[in-house]
Amino acid sequence: MYTYNWTKEDQKLQNKKLEEVIEIIKEKTRKQISTLAIFDLDGTLFDNRTRTIFILREISEQFDRELPELSEAMDKFHELSVVEYNPVGTLKRIGVRSEEEIAFIEKEWAKRFFSDEYQKFDFPMSGGKSYVTRVHEAGATVIYLTGRDVGRMLVGTTDCLRLYGFPVGIVGTMILVKEDVAVEDEIFKVEVVDYLKRLGSVVAVFENEPLNSNLLHKAFPEALSFLVMTQHRPDSPEAVSEIFKIKDFKIR
Ligand SMILES: [Mg+2]
Repeated sequence: MYTYNWTKEDQKLQNKKLEEVIEIIKEKTRKQISTLAIFDLDGTLFDNRTRTIFILREISEQFDRELPELSEAMDKFHELSVVEYNPVGTLKRIGVRSEEEIAFIEKEWAKRFFSDEYQKFDFPMSGGKSYVTRVHEAGATVIYLTGRDVGRMLVGTTDCLRLYGFPVGIVGTMILVKEDVAVEDEIFKVEVVDYLKRLGSVVAVFENEPLNSNLLHKAFPEALSFLVMTQHRPDSPEAVSEIFKIKDFKIR
């Protein structure tokens, strides 16, 4: 998680840049140019720390006798900021030390986290639905570009987008997920670049991973690039300075 002091100036810039995207789309749509706006899901349109904490609570309740340390830790849980990028990091932080418990929990966590059923426990980012709807209504094709995979997560992804009111399954929308689980997220995102270039003019890219953000900015230098400051992988590079940092999607 980031710790930052979000100032009025930061918010003003967020408002300005988010509005700029809408204006560019409207302008190009008037000229009959096909525009694309790329939105990552995990950590961008959705904060999935809630999914992890829900899963840990479920595991703790189901296996309470086998997992005394988790049971004790969940008993004290009151603050979402304990959730780190990796489940193991989270477990260590909340006081689970037993290697045996950690290995068991990690396996159970992964079964649930990477599945259709648990995505509805994600927390939609503030202003996300409203902003994506505006982008869509302005005429852009909304591309949900996610490292989730077809086999385990496509149905839940669609379901969750629909549940929270995002435009999905209709003209001007597209979900792109990985066909093969084993492909690294950033490789997958680079692979789709050529395809997206043929589809239209990418006007905006929204990501939470600085690494992906840098790659996509390089691929689409003419697009406005945004980094949503939620969570990202440990040991990430810095996002290049042309990428705008936003807190969420709210225009205030
Ligand atoms: Mg992400």
